[in-house]
Amino acid sequence: QELHDRIDQLIRDVEDFPKPGIVFKDISPLLADHDGFTAVVNGLAAAALDEAGEPRVDKVLGIEARGFILAAPVALRLRTGFVPVRKAGKLPGPTHAVSYALEYGEATLEMHQDAIEPGDKVLVVDDVLATGGTVNATKELVEACGGEVIAVAVLMDLSFLPGREALGETPLHSLYTI
Ligand code: 5GP
Repeated sequence: QELHDRIDQLIRDVEDFPKPGIVFKDISPLLADHDGFTAVVNGLAAAALDEAGEPRVDKVLGIEARGFILAAPVALRLRTGFVPVRKAGKLPGPTHAVSYALEYGEATLEMHQDAIEPGDKVLVVDDVLATGGTVNATKELVEACGGEVIAVAVLMDLSFLPGREALGETPLHSLYTI
């Protein structure tokens, strides 16, 4: 509840961004607040701790670009490495790629083929879960390497969109639901 209220105070609504009719949830004030940022990183990391408080993942994946900001400190907190999932054409090595539908058009996400080992357990971190398209594409990338997404951790999910259902069996750990 305390974390929920803190997030509530530090997220701002920006109307008509990036397109007319969309109310964008801007997390910049939260990132700029040391206590808020710390609480969010700890809250996200909790998604991958077992009952004894030990990390139960081999890697933490962050999705470009705001996902990077959250996932990297979560990885350090969990004593694991960090893996970037990037938009098409940004990664230098051989990649797996998955394309998915956006409201208008299509997007492609990529991950280095050697970033995940077969059998690796993975936590996926992003800022906002909306339709679930981005996170589902990321799940496919992990599966292409033979890894397993044990949980998805987001700062915020938008319950008026079908993101939670889109995840299927994969547990969602969301710090704030609208
Ligand atoms: P989805 O694929 O679930 O529809 O959209 C989620 C992706 O879009 C995330 O990577 C997230 O960063 C971005 N996104 C969508 N809506 C918002 C929003 O209102 N605020 C922020 N910060 N990101 C959003």
